[in-house]
Amino acid sequence: MAKQSTTNVGNSHLGLLCDIGELNALFAGSDDIEAFLQQIVMLVAKHIDAAVCSIYMFDDLSRELVLKATLGLHKRSVNKTRLKIGEGLVGLAMKEQRPICERIASQNPHYKLFPGINEEAFESFLAIPIQRGLENIGALVVQREEENSFGENDIMALKAITSQLAGAIENSRILMALHAKKKEKNQLEIAEDLKFIHAEVASEGIALANISIIDEGKPYQNLKKQTYAKTYSLKEFKNAVSKTEIQLEELQEQVENKLSGVASLIFEAHILMLKDKEFTGSMVKRINNGSNPPDAILAVANKYIRMFSEGSNVYMQEKSKDVEDLARRLFDNLVGKEGQAVTNWKGRIVIAEDLFPSDILRLSSDEVSGIILISGGVTSHISILARSLQIPLVIADKIQLKKIPDDTLILLDAELGAIYINPDKKLISTYNERKRVLSSLSQSKPRIKPASYSKDGKQIHLLANINLHLDIKLANDFKSEGVGLYRTEFSFMVRSNFPTEEEQTVIYSSIIDQMPKKSINIRTLDIGGEKVLAYYDNLKENNPNLGMRSIRFSLSHKDLFQQQLRAILRGGKNALDLRITFPMISSVDEFKEAKKQILKSLKSLKSENIPHFSSPKIGIMIETPSVIEIIDELAREADFFCIGTNDFIQYMLAVDRNNAIVSSYYTPHHPSVLRSLKKIAKAALKHKIDLSICGEMAHEEKYIPFLLGIGIRTLSIDPRYMPKVQEKISQLDCDECIKRADLMLKKDTIEKVAACL
Ligand code: PEP
Ligand code: MG
Repeated sequence: MAKQSTTNVGNSHLGLLCDIGELNALFAGSDDIEAFLQQIVMLVAKHIDAAVCSIYMFDDLSRELVLKATLGLHKRSVNKTRLKIGEGLVGLAMKEQRPICERIASQNPHYKLFPGINEEAFESFLAIPIQRGLENIGALVVQREEENSFGENDIMALKAITSQLAGAIENSRILMALHAKKKEKNQLEIAEDLKFIHAEVASEGIALANISIIDEGKPYQNLKKQTYAKTYSLKEFKNAVSKTEIQLEELQEQVENKLSGVASLIFEAHILMLKDKEFTGSMVKRINNGSNPPDAILAVANKYIRMFSEGSNVYMQEKSKDVEDLARRLFDNLVGKEGQAVTNWKGRIVIAEDLFPSDILRLSSDEVSGIILISGGVTSHISILARSLQIPLVIADKIQLKKIPDDTLILLDAELGAIYINPDKKLISTYNERKRVLSSLSQSKPRIKPASYSKDGKQIHLLANINLHLDIKLANDFKSEGVGLYRTEFSFMVRSNFPTEEEQTVIYSSIIDQMPKKSINIRTLDIGGEKVLAYYDNLKENNPNLGMRSIRFSLSHKDLFQQQLRAILRGGKNALDLRITFPMISSVDEFKEAKKQILKSLKSLKSENIPHFSSPKIGIMIETPSVIEIIDELAREADFFCIGTNDFIQYMLAVDRNNAIVSSYYTPHHPSVLRSLKKIAKAALKHKIDLSICGEMAHEEKYIPFLLGIGIRTLSIDPRYMPKVQEKISQLDCDECIKRADLMLKKDTIEKVAACL
C-alpha cells in the first residue's frame, strides 16, 4: 500500500526539522564533512521513512552534480555517480530549480538509469534542489519502492530542510573543494591514518583478529551476486539444504549450552524457514526452470529480504536479517570454497555503527572475537549484554572506522580502551604476553569471601545483577548473597514470540533453584527504548526512551503483565525471599496500580489452587527524577527501593545513556544526582525499608565511598566486579565515608565534586 502523508507524518517532519537544526550546530565543530552529510541522509531517511536518501553536490569545476552521501544506494557510487545539469531527474530538478516529484520515476522521459547504483527498485522519487540565494548548491533526493508515495507535505518539509541546510552544505562544499586538491585518500590510507584510536571500554577483554564491517546503514542489503564457476544440480542443492539443517540444529545445541534456555531460539526461525515449502520450494521451482541453484538461492532470498524490509517495523527488519543469514549459509554449503566467502563472523572483530541486543546474541553464537561500536554508551544494554556474553566491546566515536577495508587486522584492547589498526609484530607479541598473563589470572579462582565488611566491620551486602542465565553460575562462583536485579526482558528479547506463562515459570524457577535460600529480586518487563521485541509490532516513537517503556508497557498490556506476574509467583514457589520490582515508576498512582496487579495474580493463583509464593516483597526501581518530591509517600507504599542509576542519571540530566556524542554530560557525580541519591537513601532509612543500588555506578570504585556515606548498604552489581568491589569495601571506614559524602554534597559544581573524587 502506498504511504501517504498524514498528520503523523507532519509531526515527524517537525521532529526532523529540529534534528536538522541540531546537526547544523554540530557541523560548526565537525571536521568530517562526509560523516556530516551521511548523518543528514540518515536522519532524513528515518524521519521521512524513505528507503533511499541521497545528497548530490554541485562541483563548480566539472559543472556536474556529484553523489556525496547516500543511504540505500550503493555506497561505492558515492563520488562516482555524476550528472550534468538537466541530466536525469536530479539534473532536471537542478536545471529547473524546482522540486521533481514522480509517482513512477521510470516513466518520466528524463529518467536515467545509472548502472550499479542500485536504483531500479525505487519508483517514488522526490528531488529538491538545494540553493543558497541564486547559487545552486546541490540536490536532496528521497526514494521509496512503492509507487506514488510522496505528497505535498513531504515536498514542503524537504524544502524547509534544504533551506535550513543550505548554509552548512555550502560550507562543506567549499571545504570539500579544498580537500580535493589533496590526493583522495584510499581506504588503506585511512587505515594508516587511524593507526591508534582511543575507545571507551564497555565490556572487558582483548582480541586480535581481522575485521568485518556490518553496514546497517542501508534499509536492506541485497545479497550480492557471488562468483562461482560451475553449474550445480538439483541434487547438490538438496544436499546443501540438508547440510544447512544439520548445521543449524548443531548450532542451536551449542548456543543452548552457552546461553542456557533462551538464545537457541534464534535459530528456530531459520530452521522453520528452511523447511518452508514457499521458501526452498520457490528455489527448487527456479532450478527446475533452468536456474543455476546459487542464482536461485540469491534470487528468492533477495525477494524475501525486500519484502520484509518494506515493513517499517522492527519485527520485519529482523526477519529480513534471518533470511539473509539463512541464504548465506545455504549458499556457502552449496558452493563451498568456490564462492567468494560470504560473511562469516566467526573469530572476527566486528565494527558496527549500532546494534540491537538481539544482534549481540547472534554475534555471540557466531563466536566473534570482539565488537567495536561507533555509537552507544557503556551503560547501554548492548554493553551490559556483551559483558554477560564475555565479548570484548569498545565504543569509539569515529565514523571513519567503517571505511577500513574488510579483513584488516586489528588489535582490540578492551582492557585499556585502545584499538590498534594493523599492529606491528612487536605490539602483537606484547599483546600475546598480556593475554597469557590474563588467562592464567582468570584460571586461578578469584579470592572472595562469602560476606563483605568495611574496615570498621560494617556488613555491606553484595548482590548480583543477572541478565542471562549464564550469569547465575558466575554469581554463585563469586559468592553473591542473592540476586539484586534480574532483567527479565532479555529472555523476552531472544525469543521469537512472547514466552507463555508456563515457559516463564520454568525460566524464573530455574533461577531460584540455582540460588536456593537467597533473596531473589525479579524485575518485571523493562521493554521499550533500545530494548525492542522483534516479534512485537513496536510503536514508532520519536523518542522511545520517553515513550511506551517499562511499567507503562506492562500496565497497558495487562494480559501480558498478568502472565508475567503469575509466572514469577509460580516460579518462586520455593523461594525464601522473593521480591518483585517495577521499573520506571514515576508516580504513587502508577505504583499502586502495578501493586494491584500483583494482588490480582495472587488471588487468581490461590483460587486456581496453583502452588506459588504468597508474600512477595514489592519494590520500586528508582529511575525517574519525578519520584524525588514524592519519595516519602513512595517509601510508605513500597517494601524496598532499588536505585537504577543508569536511567536515573539519564533522565535527571537529560543525557541519552546510549549516545556517545553526549557521554561527557553523563556525570554520576553531578551535584543534582548526588543530592537526589541522598534524599532517596534518607527516605528509605526513615521509613525503614530496604534499599539497594543496581546501576553501573554501584561497582565504580570511586563512587563506593559516597554510596556507603549516604547509608547504602546493599550493592547489586555485575558478578564479575565482585572481587574488586569487596576489596574496595574492605579498605573503607563508614564514618569517614559519611564525612566524605557530606563534603561532596556541599559542592555546587561538577568540577568541585570531581575534585573530591
Ligand atoms: C538502571 O537503569 O540503572 C538499571 C539498573 O536498569 P537498566 O540498566 O536495565 O535500565
Ligand atoms: Mg533502568
